[in-house]
Amino acid sequence: MNEHPRIGLGIDVHRLEAGRTCTLAGVPFPGSPVGPVGHSDGDAVLHAACDAVLGAAGLDDLGTLFPDKDPANRGRASAEFCAAAMLRVHQEGLRVLSMDVVVETEAPKLQPMRRAMRDRLAQLFGLSADRVNVKGKTGEKVDAIGRGEAMRATVVVLLGPL
Ligand code: MG
Repeated sequence: MNEHPRIGLGIDVHRLEAGRTCTLAGVPFPGSPVGPVGHSDGDAVLHAACDAVLGAAGLDDLGTLFPDKDPANRGRASAEFCAAAMLRVHQEGLRVLSMDVVVETEAPKLQPMRRAMRDRLAQLFGLSADRVNVKGKTGEKVDAIGRGEAMRATVVVLLGPL
């Protein structure tokens, strides 16, 4: 039954390396000194967001839908994962009501791109940008994130009836 809202949580970590292309929430960061290492484009925000919506809908996770062992997924734009996840969510009679995103990373700085990230997430997940929030945090020099070796995205979503 879909009349009650459903909450979903997604978390994704990617290693960071110098000189790699950086795309977060589907938005390119052309000046970034580092980028995520990944089988696809490494967009940790979109991976976490997909897992959040799939989880809330009681469906599989992203790794099951798009295994990283499958060569077809190599270098794939994560926006395609979002479209596939949302198709399944719609088939369940659900839509995304709100989305809240936290990105923990030393680089790149998110502040200049937060508006663009919200707009792109709204477009990919079919809700208005005022129901999407993106917050950037640093790792305070603690652990792998604080040392700039990795980034982590955490996404919470609320789903309701279509
Ligand atoms: Mg990932």
